[in-house]
Amino acid sequence: MTNGITSAIGQLLSSPLVGEAATIVAIGGTALWLAAAWWTYLDMTRRTGSEPIRLGAAGWILISTPLLLPLSLPIYLFVRPQQTAAQRESDELVRELSLADADADRCPGCALVTELGWKRCPACATWLETECADCGRWSRVELSICPWCASERDALGSAGVLIGLPLSVPPPKAELERRREPAPRLARLG
Ligand SMILES: [Zn+2]
Ligand SMILES: [Zn+2]
Repeated sequence: MTNGITSAIGQLLSSPLVGEAATIVAIGGTALWLAAAWWTYLDMTRRTGSEPIRLGAAGWILISTPLLLPLSLPIYLFVRPQQTAAQRESDELVRELSLADADADRCPGCALVTELGWKRCPACATWLETECADCGRWSRVELSICPWCASERDALGSAGVLIGLPLSVPPPKAELERRREPAPRLARLG
């Protein structure tokens, strides 16, 4: 019985069909292994700008041989940088934008967190908003154009509320007088 099985296996192994199948499997495995190394190199290119790291990753797959590929590939997938370079850049951009956004809510004089609509910093008296000389509405001092009436702010109008300049005195009286005057209007009809 045992002899029968042994000889059957021997017959099978020596058959040209099995030899061909083994060759196909070997070629397929080798092709898969080389393709995996190439894919690893390309995958790493999207994750790092460092050539030695890319070559190292591809080399890791190459030294694993086709036999250990099922082991080396999952290990690579586990240890590779999980973010691509493009993802990292967009994350960085979002972070910078949110920082810039946070800066907009701080007093330019003392960095106190301010709230929308505050005209003046309660801590250092820096003017946060300024009154439009034309329409009389208030808006952020750093704006060079009134968002309400689109008039451009003159030098004096914004001089009293320069960014980063803690001003404890209100704008000059002459300027206040001037602001009370009705804005010159262009004749719309006729
Ligand atoms: Zn302040
Ligand atoms: Zn205005």
